[in-house]
Amino acid sequence: MTSFSHAADGADGSGPVVKLRRVEKLYRAGDVEVRAVRGVTLDVARGDFVAIMGASGSGKSSLMNILGCLDRPTSGEYILDGTSVAGEDGRRLAVLRSSKLGFVFQSFNLLSRTSAVENVELPMLYAAKLVAVAERRRRATEALELVGLRARIHHLPSQLSGGQQQRVAIARALVNRPQILLADEPTGNLDSRTSVEIMGLFQELNDSGITVIMVTHEPDVAAYCKRVLVMRDGMAISDTRNEERRSAAAELAGRGRVAREACLS
Ligand code: ADP
Ligand code: MG
Repeated sequence: MTSFSHAADGADGSGPVVKLRRVEKLYRAGDVEVRAVRGVTLDVARGDFVAIMGASGSGKSSLMNILGCLDRPTSGEYILDGTSVAGEDGRRLAVLRSSKLGFVFQSFNLLSRTSAVENVELPMLYAAKLVAVAERRRRATEALELVGLRARIHHLPSQLSGGQQQRVAIARALVNRPQILLADEPTGNLDSRTSVEIMGLFQELNDSGITVIMVTHEPDVAAYCKRVLVMRDGMAISDTRNEERRSAAAELAGRGRVAREACLS
């Protein structure tokens, strides 16, 4: 069993926003049983920014699905912001998910015949509290503004670059004002410059107080996170703090300066 508990309390002092205790996930396919997650114990403090790394098949997505309340542990305990997930029925789990969590995926998962702003409005249709049409539009526009896409709100996904599509997906993840953003390989389909821009956006959101947990297999991307958890064979085998983490904003500003200087010389 692996056990990592960063005891540090969150910014508001009320303890970890995520608590996993001896979490196991077993999949059964016919006679074959796969232990995808094996006894993971983990605390994530409010405001933390965690990268989950590990080889393909090490259990990263299974763990993310549990963290995202998309799946339940076979055994063990998950306490999300003080609520034990095991005790919740499907409907209450959906409410917990839509009020506390935002999801970002590698392949963006936008509806292709639907404009950016309508894509961002979608999670409000499933929110526990009914949001009026005009208010949905206002909040979706605000979220798109936050990710730098105010001028593109009526574009279809096909009219946007990969990085812009991922920004729409991040706006959609933010629109119900979640405490935690969960992202499974969010830069996996992006070139390196766009990846840095997206990491810059995640760093900004994290600075504003949102807890971010993201899967990545790229050490370059993990270097922007505050903490790196490595999985192997369903277990968390290491958990370290990035003492010298990279700042995407500083790097992007630096590249701009280098480019300007090159033009002037
Ligand atoms: P990663 O995201 O690190 O690549 P996964 O969590 O997707 O790893 O998978 C961990 C293990 O669980 C793998 O051996 C995978 O084949 C298995 N697995 C994942 N999902 C299922 C499923 N729905 N049914 C059966 N086995 C699964
Ligand atoms: Mg995966």
